[in-house]
Amino acid sequence: MARKRIISPEQQTADTEPAVSESNSHSIRPTTLAQYLGQAELRERLSVALEAAKDRSEPMEHVLLYGPPGLGKTTLAHVIANELGTRAWVTSGPALTKGSDLVGTLTRMEPGDVLFIDEIHRLPAAVEEYIYPAMEDYKIDFTLDSGMHARVVTYALQPFTLIGATTRAGLLTGALRSRFGIVHNIRFYETDELASILKQAVTKLEMNLVDEASLHCIASRSRGTPRIALRLLRRVRDFSQVRRDNVFTLSVVDEALKLEGIDDAGLDTLDRTYLETLSNVYEGGPAGVEAIAATMGEDAGTLQDVVEPYLLQAGYLSRTRQGRKITELGRSRLNSSSK
Ligand code: ADP
Repeated sequence: MARKRIISPEQQTADTEPAVSESNSHSIRPTTLAQYLGQAELRERLSVALEAAKDRSEPMEHVLLYGPPGLGKTTLAHVIANELGTRAWVTSGPALTKGSDLVGTLTRMEPGDVLFIDEIHRLPAAVEEYIYPAMEDYKIDFTLDSGMHARVVTYALQPFTLIGATTRAGLLTGALRSRFGIVHNIRFYETDELASILKQAVTKLEMNLVDEASLHCIASRSRGTPRIALRLLRRVRDFSQVRRDNVFTLSVVDEALKLEGIDDAGLDTLDRTYLETLSNVYEGGPAGVEAIAATMGEDAGTLQDVVEPYLLQAGYLSRTRQGRKITELGRSRLNSSSK
């Protein structure tokens, strides 16, 4: 089991599904494309697609979003539904175990609704087959009875937009991937973009007086991930309220984050353990992720999804044919954080 960690980009409350979103008013999730900050290229592509769809009164093209968790894929599905004036239905690959799970949702959807399937790479093959005709012709073929009496009934569906999200685009079948009109890689955010996201949240949360430098500091330690930035903001807010009389300054931020075990590059114990294992046990690599995971007592998939992407992006780790290798930067990071 993966350890719960404050900077885990994964959502920490279990998602119920299939759930209908209503753009919760108490939530700090953006509801419009304008509030969805960063990812300029993606926003541009989507605003064109949205406008074209609205002009033609058609559903928007199916969208596949891939990238590490916490970068705003689910949020975007809600934003798109909101911009289209429709609803988003949220489910996930592992939750759909048989074709009929999907049929229930698809037949309840209104014209133009958005169906969001998280972790779409974990969709069972049997369910995937239902999706193809649904995506292409807005219909599903349903087999009733079995053996001699088996008959196929075709259900016509309302036109809808499928938004698929995955952390592992490579695991998707070519057949499924090719049915998406828009395929986009959601990237890690720049520190400035995260600082703007935090600023927006500070306003929504009605927090008083948080200076730019503090927000920037939190942003720079959030591994390029909005979910982590917002979570750290909440932790610092708690700390400042309980221990520092609501004072929210750079030094309070620093203290609060230290307490959470986050170093000045935003790495936490799990990241550092990964780099230490690679450096000490495997002499810097190359080593396979399975071997590193076994030594750490972690799940290899978790390391691949939530630890490695940022270490790679930050240049602490490199991936070679032979396996993972720590970089010079990674070594100096370890040295400076062990001081
Ligand atoms: P994912 O589905 O990729 O795991 P989410 O959509 O759940 O990520 O986003 C995590 C959190 O980060 C949400 O609470 C959302 O409010 C916030 N967030 C993500 N992307 C943005 C963005 N571009 N602008 C503002 N907030 C964002």
